[in-house]
Parts: sequence; C-alpha cells; structure tokens
Amino acid sequence: MSAGPGPSAQAAGWRLRPLGPDRARLADGFLAERQRVNRRHTLPHGFAQLRQSGTLDNLRLAAGADGRYRASADTSGATFPFLDSDVYKWLEAVGWELGRAPDPALAAAADEAIGLVTAAQRPDGYLNSYVQVVTGGTPHTDLAWGHEFYCAGHLIQAGVAWHRALGDDRLLEVAVRAADRIDKEFGPTGREGVDGHPGIEMALVELTRATGDGRYLALAARMLELRGKGLLGEGRFGAAYWQDHLPVREAATVAGHAVRQLYLDCGAVEVAVELGDEGLLAAVARRWRDLVGTRTYLTGGMGSRHRDESFGDPYELPPDRAYAETCAAIAGVMLAWRLLLATGEACYADALERALYNGVLPGVSLTGTRFFYVNPLQRRTDRAFEPPGHGGRAPWYPCACCPPNLMRTLSALEQYLATSDGAGVQLHQHATADLRAPVPGGEARLAVRTGYPWHGRVTVEVVDAPGRPWTLSLRVPGWCRSAMLVGPGEEPPRAAAAGYVELSRPWRAGDTVVLDLELPVRVTEPDPRVDAVRGCVAVERGPLVYCLESADLPPGLALEELRWDPRREPVAVPRPDLGEVVVGVAVPVVREPSRGGGPDGLSAGAVPYFAWANRGAEAMRVWIPR
Ligand SMILES: [Zn+2]
Repeated sequence: MSAGPGPSAQAAGWRLRPLGPDRARLADGFLAERQRVNRRHTLPHGFAQLRQSGTLDNLRLAAGADGRYRASADTSGATFPFLDSDVYKWLEAVGWELGRAPDPALAAAADEAIGLVTAAQRPDGYLNSYVQVVTGGTPHTDLAWGHEFYCAGHLIQAGVAWHRALGDDRLLEVAVRAADRIDKEFGPTGREGVDGHPGIEMALVELTRATGDGRYLALAARMLELRGKGLLGEGRFGAAYWQDHLPVREAATVAGHAVRQLYLDCGAVEVAVELGDEGLLAAVARRWRDLVGTRTYLTGGMGSRHRDESFGDPYELPPDRAYAETCAAIAGVMLAWRLLLATGEACYADALERALYNGVLPGVSLTGTRFFYVNPLQRRTDRAFEPPGHGGRAPWYPCACCPPNLMRTLSALEQYLATSDGAGVQLHQHATADLRAPVPGGEARLAVRTGYPWHGRVTVEVVDAPGRPWTLSLRVPGWCRSAMLVGPGEEPPRAAAAGYVELSRPWRAGDTVVLDLELPVRVTEPDPRVDAVRGCVAVERGPLVYCLESADLPPGLALEELRWDPRREPVAVPRPDLGEVVVGVAVPVVREPSRGGGPDGLSAGAVPYFAWANRGAEAMRVWIPR
C-alpha cells in the first residue's frame, strides 16, 4: 500500500518510484500550511458547496429520490453533465486527508457522499446521475459531450485513493463495477468508443495496479489507440479540440482543449510505462517539450484561449487574456510528475515546481475558500468587461471542476516530494518533511528541514539507515545560478550545478547534508516571440513569480502609469503585513513620461503571484513595461 496521486510504486516501468502517502509527510513550513488550510477550511467548504449546488442531491435522485435535477448551465444554456466528478474529486481529497489523520466531521461527510454514490449505482454497474435522471437512462449515447467516462475516471481515482490511503474499499468496489460495465461494452471485442474528455485512461491503469486485473490497462491502451481516428467527429471546435485529429503517438504538438490534452498525455505515459512502449512515451515527451518551449506562461499556466479553453498558437501568450485554467496547471503538474517518474529527468521536476507554486496555488485564496478558474497575468485598473465568475475569486463555480481539483492536489502534496530507485532516494521538491524510503539493505528515514521557498537552505538529516551504501540525490532547480553543498564530514562546501547532485556513501544516523540555494531576485525577459509582453520584464525569486498589485503602489499612482526603472535593482524585502507571504520584492519604477514622469526613486511592492487578489479586486500585472 504505497503510491502517489496517480502512479503507484507497483508499476514496473517507472524509472523512479513514488514513495506513496504513508512514507512522506509534510512536517512544517510553506506547503504544510497550504495543506493544513485545505484540510481545515477548503474541504468543509467544498462539501457545503456540493450540498448547496445540488450536486449531492443529483446523486440522491439517481438513487431514486424525488426532486428536480440541478445541472448548472453555461452562458449558452447548455447544462453540465459532469457534476458527479466534483463529488469524486472531493472524495479523493478526503481519502488522502483521512489517511494522514482522522477527522470525524470529514469522515461523516465522506460517509454520506459514499453512501449516495453507492446507492446511485445501477445494478449493472452504470453510474452517472445526469444520464440516469435527465436524459432517459440510456448510457453512452453522446460520448463526445457526455463526460461519462470522464466521470467514471474520477470515481476510479477516488476509489484507488481510499484503497491506498485507508484500505477502505467501499468506493473501489463501486469503481470496479462501473469500470466492468464500461469494459463489457467497450472492451477488446466491443464497441469502439472514446470520451470527448480524456481522463479515464490514467485512472484505468491505476485500477489495474490496485486490483491486479489487467483488463483495465488493456481498455486504457485500446482507448488511446482509438483516439485520432475520427470517432468523435468535428464537434463545435474541430477534432483537435478533443485530440481526435491525429493518433496519440503521431501528434507532434499539443492541440485543442488544454486539460483534455494534458489528461490524455497522463494516460499515455501510464500506458507506455506499463507496456514498455517507448514510442508512446517519446511522443508525449516531444509534445511536452514543445508545450513548455512555446505555449506555457511564466507561471506554468497553460491554455491561453478563452473560446475553447485551448492552447493558442506558439507564443500566443497574452497576459491579460490568459485563460490558464487552474485545472490545466494541475494537469500540468500531473503530467510533469509522470514524465519525471518515467525518465528521472530534472526538467520535469523544474516544470512541476513552477506550475505548482505559480499555476496551482494562485487558484485558491489564502483563506482556502475562494477560487480562481482562470488565471490571467494582468488585470487592469478599469475593467469594462469580465466574464461572469472570472473576475474576482468566487466561492464556487457553475462548472466547478477547479475547486475540488485543487483540493485533491493539495491533499496529496507530500507525494510529489521524493522518489526512490534501486540505488537510493531522490529529493525533487524542497519542503520540511519526514520521509521513509526503500534503499539498498532496508529503509532510510530522512528529516528534511527548510524555509523554502523563502529561504534557500535545505538540510537533510539521516534519521535512520541500513549500513549499506546508497545514493542521496538532491535537486538543484534549473533557475538556480549558484548552489553549494556540504555532505557529512566534507569541507569546504562544493558547488552544485542545476540538476541532481548525488552523494553516495554508507549513511549513518545523524549524517547531515546541507544544500544552500542562492535566491537572488531575478529579472526575467520574455521570449521575444511572445509579442504580447515584448519590452516587459518580470520579477522572480526562487521558484516564485512575482506581480505588482495596486495595493502596493506609491500613493496616487495607477498600475498602468508605471514603468520599470532600469537604473536601479529590485531587492527582496520582508512583508510582515501579508501573513503567509514572507518575502516581497521592492521593484524600482518610474512614472510614465507621458503621465508627467518623476519623481525619481519610486519603488512598488511586488508580491508572489500565488498571493494576489487576497486584498480585494485589485489591478495586477506580472509583466512590467520597461
Ligand atoms: Zn477546472
């Protein structure tokens, strides 16, 4: 019983193996606090919203209760058929949390939700409240838009989480019956069909790992091979919208709806690793390189277009009109994690870090109860128009995919920290944590202590280890220009380059390694091909992207009046006024000459982008004109 959010340690083909929820624990510090807020505030809020929005009652109706189905609609009046998935994502989050420590109130809420899910399932295994209550009960009549497999995928992921975290198989049994129903109709000798929204593929692979039944892996592989053959048609946005324009192993670049593409590629990595399919893995890695090189925001946000929630063209990355759905950043983390496990390459851990700190965390307020669906990198002072629900943070959304996706991600944060392989332990994300990892000769226990991301010192103490030699690998992030490392008994410190620095020795209890990452404020220029921000600079420090917010401007000045002052350097400054934000940046600015210029010596406070919009509906910008 040891696995991560997604890939489990049992997969034979992973280059690196996750430690799993029972072997990693955030002990203190920045990420631990985000996880604590998620548990204490976000999860109870989420349950209240699932109740209030009718999403839980919809399952009650599917189970036979009387009442009116409450499917919220988009601006065109089309109702959303996928709301069950919000319950499943919330349940997955609660599973990870209860696995870490009991909580009677959360457990009672989860029992109610699991009871509803169980009661709603038909005797033949079919389970989808929208189809059962609204569209007459015939399954799979609209694979393109119906999201039935998508919902089943989230159900499976929740079931696997409860199985792994708690050994509680109530949801897994529901998930198995649902998957069996799908396999019966769409398995090797059955109907050919893929879902308009990928996601079930990675879940099916996990279901094989959890149950040992290879049918689900085979079904996932079949669905991947069937995509790109035109089964879904053109729809409203063209076949690329749901990645049905080219076979998965042939498409050279990402295309269409960002979350769909990223979930699809997560499934492709899972299948590739299980089947030893190097070609399939290479196809995903090639798409990823193109995505990170040409269509990813500085924040790790992905998918710039509002119209169809899609990736734009290469370098089409407008800051103000960025879509950058929170779910896409989460999916980016999920895919980077899988590629890291499959290859062991540091670039994926770098990308995961950027997306986590700057793409995922901005999606939830510091209080844990207000969310962003879209994540622009600029918001103007005078806003004539903002899409409904896309202006300030909202307590919930009619299409509520993002909030519970955040919940399950934050509840599993510790599972992204470290891995093991046959040679030793790899530390990928720096956070104060207690880890247990299999190493040659037994198990090692490590205590990682750090003030990251505000401070760059990472101390790793070996609490316990078998006597045999093994290798401890620590990641030096790609953004880091200067890092020093001291191992046990080593003097003086030695320089460590970006990538993984490795120490091999017979480790003993008390051995300590200190990694010092320099965290200067960095001034980042955009790729010149990103026309929308040409002539601007951004401020970064460590893994964090910063932004200017109107609350921190010199009195009497609007955000749009400011320019970067290249004659002076930005400096890190403490921000005791912002609670969880420890380090801000004082950005040297001048007033636009066209607005009268002067006075000299102005500076504007920049805050980490993840912390913006926690002080009212402020104007904000990441990219600052020079
Ligand atoms: Zn979303």
